Amino acid sequence: MSKLYIVPTPIGNLEDITLRAIRILGETDLIFAEDTRVTRKLLAHLEIQKTVQPFHAHNEHKALSSVIDRIQASNSVALVSDAGTPGISDPGFLLVRECLSKGIEVECLPGPAALIPAIVASGFPCDRFVFEGFLPHKKGRQTRLKAIAEETRTTILYESPHRLVKCLGQIVEFMGADRHVCVARELTKMFEEFKRGTAAEVMAYYEEHPPKGEIVMIIEGAEPKKAKKYADK
Ligand code: SAM
Repeated sequence: MSKLYIVPTPIGNLEDITLRAIRILGETDLIFAEDTRVTRKLLAHLEIQKTVQPFHAHNEHKALSSVIDRIQASNSVALVSDAGTPGISDPGFLLVRECLSKGIEVECLPGPAALIPAIVASGFPCDRFVFEGFLPHKKGRQTRLKAIAEETRTTILYESPHRLVKCLGQIVEFMGADRHVCVARELTKMFEEFKRGTAAEVMAYYEEHPPKGEIVMIIEGAEPKKAKKYADK
């Protein structure tokens, strides 16, 4: 019977791959990858020689049926993305759903995902949280920001460095200058950085020091009383 393995890969530091992930990547018949060049580099580092086929956001819908055919013709296939866990702001969900509907077994290995070290080290409550992924750039952005303003749980966003200051400005606008945030940048890499403070303080810092690299934004949950105030607005 065929099986699809979802295999998380490092988000920066190449040591962050599990022994099981290395074994599965070595054992599967075929690996589907978001960017075959990125994955081939990782496989070369792990000294694994394996056929790698593309499965990226642009061809996710179109490729689905041929990918399912390949999986059904194999014993086991692995899906990887460029970094972290496939399906988390990366292609994966559609393939998992399609496999399950065709009776193909799916197993997701635990492993790196940028949101987890970011929220845990932020110092904000992480017993309950909301992951919003990337906010839409235009349509729907304000609606989401308003919802986050009322949210009492910690919220996690993925953000690009060139939109970070704008995003912090919108947090100030929708949630107040004193809402606490934490920007987690370049996690697991040489220049890993955490900036914690009010939205206004962190925005002032990044206006002075334009950021580079990859960013997770963590937003403190609204105090329940304030959340009600936002909801009544
Ligand atoms: N699948 C990945 C995961 O499991 O986290 C996420 C992929 S998404 C296309 C890429 C975004 O994840 C980046 O823009 C950034 O927001 C976040 N990210 C990935 N690696 C990161 C890192 N090393 N440090 C901070 N954020 C990171």
